[in-house]
Amino acid sequence: MNEVVKPRTGSEGVPTAYRLRLPGPTAVPERVRAAMARPVLNHRGPEFRDQLAAAEQLLRPILGTENPVLFFGCSGTGMMEAALLNLLAPGERLLCIIHGQFGERFAAIGEALGAQVDRMEMEWGEGIDIGAVAARLDAARYRAVTVIHNESSTGAVADLAELGALLRDRPEILVVDSVSGLGAVPMRQDEWGVDVVVSASQKALMCPPGLGLVSLSAKARAVVARQTTMPRFYFDFRRALDSANKGETPFTPPTALVAALVEALGMIHAEGLDSVLTRHRALSSALRAGATAIGLPDFTRAPTRSSSVVVLSVPPGLEGGAIVRAMRDRYGSVIAGARNRLAGRVIRIGTMGFLAPSDILTDLQELEQVLVGLGHPLEIGAGVAAAARSLHATTPEMGSAPSQDGKPAASYG
Ligand SMILES: *Cc1c(COP(=O)(O)O)cnc(C)c1O
Repeated sequence: MNEVVKPRTGSEGVPTAYRLRLPGPTAVPERVRAAMARPVLNHRGPEFRDQLAAAEQLLRPILGTENPVLFFGCSGTGMMEAALLNLLAPGERLLCIIHGQFGERFAAIGEALGAQVDRMEMEWGEGIDIGAVAARLDAARYRAVTVIHNESSTGAVADLAELGALLRDRPEILVVDSVSGLGAVPMRQDEWGVDVVVSASQKALMCPPGLGLVSLSAKARAVVARQTTMPRFYFDFRRALDSANKGETPFTPPTALVAALVEALGMIHAEGLDSVLTRHRALSSALRAGATAIGLPDFTRAPTRSSSVVVLSVPPGLEGGAIVRAMRDRYGSVIAGARNRLAGRVIRIGTMGFLAPSDILTDLQELEQVLVGLGHPLEIGAGVAAAARSLHATTPEMGSAPSQDGKPAASYG
């Protein structure tokens, strides 16, 4: 059993043994992939207007908002940039709360757009120091504050209720990246007072990459409506809001991805949003419990840990990249390392989207073999057992697959 099994590429370019276990993009259920193969619709016709309206209506409870939702053909970073482009005038001040790689990205975008960016650096993996944020807001006048809801680089979840309460009666716009949170981690935009939420298709929303979305509060829309010297065209939210009033997008949208999103959102609502969030919580907790039992402790120390990504510290003497490579070479299981200051020190596994207990148990069984192969001592089965106990304690009634009309979880057809 020590022989290395190389994943071979099948006829459609997909390795025959392939488990996409990244914190995004995530595995796309067969139903969602099939939705993309339907005939292309007239993007100005009533048939597509229905799809766009359905996508918005199905997203609103997941966002926890009554706000309009805009769609663009772009990745999550495109939506981060679009949000700042529409909120800032050149030279305005932006406060960026940074406790991981994606927080840094927001600051870099703000700088690229000519904003005056204040970086509030906090400890990676920790929660947000709200007192420090309040002190900054008292010391200077900002147009907006950026924060990452679910830091995919560290597994920390920000307390948005606390931040929203701080900003609710102030002029600053609270801009939240929930690219890897939405659909996996609770989001109550209106209740919490979050002005702008940006997200994208390829994480907990179970779609391929390429569709970005944003929802804007009335407070944010008032700032977006300003005449500024910031150049904007494709990503001009003013134009997109006008089109949205007519049930359209200003330019040709990725119609197949909208069809995919409607299908995926339908699956989420069929399972029940609360059940989906509970399943994410249970699976991520089980993976953490199992990993801890085999000497891969949780890197995340924030009071709220992510349900959508598990970030594990690599034991001394091992290198994260070696674990990632061995998982891929031996099993065709694709997990992530880090491409930042944590490189080599952590591995990251997605626990979002179309996932069942069997996926987590497989992750652990494979990790056990890989770690032993790399010379890390552990008791084979200890991780799997700890995860199974955790699943039993949290959700003993959970089935082997999320509700997919009888289709097996993570099926690659
Ligand atoms: C994945 C991700 C993004 C977006 O990355 P893209 O590659 O541009 O889609 C942004 N923020 C967070 C927190 C993410 O996890």
